[in-house]
Amino acid sequence: MKTTTIRRRCVKCSGWFVPDPRVGDRQVTCGATECQGARHADRCRDWHVHNAEAKASHYQDVVVPLRRAQPDYQSRWRWSRRLREIREQTGLLGGRVLASLQALVSRAGQLAGRARGIVQTGVLAGEMLERAVTAVSSMIAAVEQLQASTAELRELGL
Ligand SMILES: [Zn+2]
Repeated sequence: MKTTTIRRRCVKCSGWFVPDPRVGDRQVTCGATECQGARHADRCRDWHVHNAEAKASHYQDVVVPLRRAQPDYQSRWRWSRRLREIREQTGLLGGRVLASLQALVSRAGQLAGRARGIVQTGVLAGEMLERAVTAVSSMIAAVEQLQASTAELRELGL
């Protein structure tokens, strides 16, 4: 078998390249993204020039029947997109808040241990500190539930 390497000039940058054997004669650009993108844009432009009537009737031929077949498609798509935005925001917020709350609870545990038997006024101490820690623990549980629900939505692609 003859193994000559066929080289060709790129129609975009004029650089030499070796065509992919799977593409063969059809390959006219080198591997550079800019050249492939420019060639693709040329082909799209040609298609639109030679298929003006297809473009003109696209709305009637494709969009109208699709909307008729799935009347709620657009509403559901918008609903999903809005949910995804909220999920992204809550995911970011939840992560930040959770870390802060966990740090607070950890610190409160240390403070409560040291404050035993000492009368303190003007700051959270004793039972009030314990109640505050309980409330923060509830907040942590709620945020963890929020994180779990957010993860579930992400799994659903939302
Ligand atoms: Zn090129």
